[in-house]
Amino acid sequence: MSSLTLNTPETAVSPVLGLSERVEIVGLSREQLADALAEAGVPQRSLKMRVQQIWHWVYYRGATSFDTMTTISKDMREQLAARFAISRPEIVTAQISSDGTRKWLLKLADGQEVESVFIPEEDRGTLCVSSQVGCTLNCRFCHTGTQRLVRNLTPAEIVGQVMMTRDELGEWPSPPDGRQITNIVMMGMGEPLYNFENVKQALHIVMDAEGIALSKRRITLSTAGVVPMMARCGEEIDVNLAVSLHAVRDEIRDEIVPLNRKYKIDELLSACRAYPGAKNARRITFEYVMLKDKNDSLDDAKELVRLLKAYDIPAKVNLIPFNPWPGSPYECSTPKAVKAFSDYVFEHGISAPVRTPRGQDIMAACGQLKSASVKLKKALRGEANAA
Ligand code: SAH
Repeated sequence: MSSLTLNTPETAVSPVLGLSERVEIVGLSREQLADALAEAGVPQRSLKMRVQQIWHWVYYRGATSFDTMTTISKDMREQLAARFAISRPEIVTAQISSDGTRKWLLKLADGQEVESVFIPEEDRGTLCVSSQVGCTLNCRFCHTGTQRLVRNLTPAEIVGQVMMTRDELGEWPSPPDGRQITNIVMMGMGEPLYNFENVKQALHIVMDAEGIALSKRRITLSTAGVVPMMARCGEEIDVNLAVSLHAVRDEIRDEIVPLNRKYKIDELLSACRAYPGAKNARRITFEYVMLKDKNDSLDDAKELVRLLKAYDIPAKVNLIPFNPWPGSPYECSTPKAVKAFSDYVFEHGISAPVRTPRGQDIMAACGQLKSASVKLKKALRGEANAA
């Protein structure tokens, strides 16, 4: 029960029920919710019904208090409200880019911060969700890697990002059609496969047919290549997989994605080949950040095609022009190099669109996420020291 730590302003939430402590409902699995209700005295015979009712109000209608749960008696609502909370992460800042991309900086119960990004497009709306505060991987081109503090997000904090965004977009109750959030990508801050259990629990809540009900086909988990967890990701979460490949030779990948020193390209591609459900209908996405004179030559494109064919992986490639950040050690490839790379891969039968950067003006694009207020806090500390 490590999941009960979403932001509740009044009290520190602990899994043990004390008199003044309320248990957070968001992020609990159905089983955990049933256990928590039983512990709070809800009779065994009505447990299933209560779970059903609360689940519907919380995840289908977006209720944030028990008052509105009119299918539950007033007495029961009061009892529940005394013992349970339904919270959201606190929004510190909300920004909107000139291209419509929205970014939220969120504060968690322990004061740590993460970001979520919503990217509206003509035919879809994608929410980019964080899985950790910071990241341990230190990919050289990624801003998040420069953030020192790292911890896993709880299921409550992961689901909380989806709930918060739906509040902000006015998307309750869950509409059957015309949704704004049509897709979720686990591509925000952190490495989701280093936080497997919590990401799994959170995604199962998001996919639950009686709540938010987002199809597994519309969810993509992105990994830098945590090979030992990839099969379980396919078997137990069963969402689409994206792999941050970024280089086709071990020397280069060792440098830009240091995780490669542990799991080499060969092991990574073998795991992709074996990914459950990898078939043509469900291709694996390979993300490839375009870094000038680092990984962007025509030889690299050739090697990429050769590898994907040699390992016989149903694949598509996403070419991401490098998004710079203050102090970043690389430059983006020239448009000519990007086009030549993309054309070569396309000509060899593999889709390789170039991703238009979104939300760059608010530092919301790939690899730019970092809780900016860390800097602010440092500045304040400096002032305090000086005073
Ligand atoms: N840890 C996971 C999830 C992060 S996803 C992973 O590595 O896949 C974020 C995506 O943005 C990754 O593909 C990452 O490599 C890419 N990225 C990071 N920094 C970037 C930058 N500065 N410009 C473009 N893409 C970047």
